[in-house]
Amino acid sequence: MWKSNILIDLKHMYLNDLIPIYGKDESLQMLNILIGHYFGLSRVEQTLQSAYKLSESEMLKLHMAVKQLKKNKPLQYIIGETTFIDYKIKVNEGVLIPRPETEELVKLILDNENLSDLNILDIGTGSGCIAIALAANITNSHVYAMDISKKAIETAKQNANINNVNIQFIEDDINKPSSKISHNFDVIVSNPPYVRYLEKSQMKPNVLDYEPEIALFVDDHKPLKFYTAIMNFAKLFLNDGGRLYFEINEALADELRQSLLEYNYDKISIVKDINFKNRFVSAVKVE
Ligand code: GLN
Repeated sequence: MWKSNILIDLKHMYLNDLIPIYGKDESLQMLNILIGHYFGLSRVEQTLQSAYKLSESEMLKLHMAVKQLKKNKPLQYIIGETTFIDYKIKVNEGVLIPRPETEELVKLILDNENLSDLNILDIGTGSGCIAIALAANITNSHVYAMDISKKAIETAKQNANINNVNIQFIEDDINKPSSKISHNFDVIVSNPPYVRYLEKSQMKPNVLDYEPEIALFVDDHKPLKFYTAIMNFAKLFLNDGGRLYFEINEALADELRQSLLEYNYDKISIVKDINFKNRFVSAVKVE
């Protein structure tokens, strides 16, 4: 089936397959990651050991992975993991792949907050990436993480264990919160679904065909639905002086600011991401 079992030959062959879809740089990067993941060869080792001979089963693994990449399956779902800041995060098609913007959200929180003794709730935790990074960096924190999806909670629990952090998980719907919460928070953070269906046509097949719709999309007519639900929840469960941190759709920053004002929030700050898009909002609750 294969003309050669030598690493460099296979790499060239698969590069030719992938370049029309992903371009040269991304294709090479994806192959390097696959080879690193499956065969434990670092990038330098891949160059130094370019004559490395793959076994039948190794070749099959690589072949299957490239086949899935050709069908637009995200690399992170193929290998089942990604890195978020410094943390290894397991992912599957039941959770969104953590985005670089969300790393910036965590950095914003860590820059603004005292790094000890905080009660924190992450709403719509997905893979658990935000909750885990916060729990790992804030000493004596009590971190809670909510999601409506059982599969997401299972994945996030696994990720909390891998990263040795203690998080309390709550399976619940923020739009109809039950009485599972019995205390107050200093910080509530959320990266809820915020892509409007009207924006779907601008999205790529790797996202649309594989990532969970429930984690991405929101009704065109109620694009702030999750933020409003969180502000209603925060009336009861966010301490006075407590902080809200959101990741947002860049087109909805002004609408959300308006809504936060109506809910009587103070110190509303809209923060841009690395691409100069309005991507984060923080605000302080007043009595
Ligand atoms: N930024 C993500 C995307 O464009 C969306 C994340 C979200 O809806 N919370 O795919």
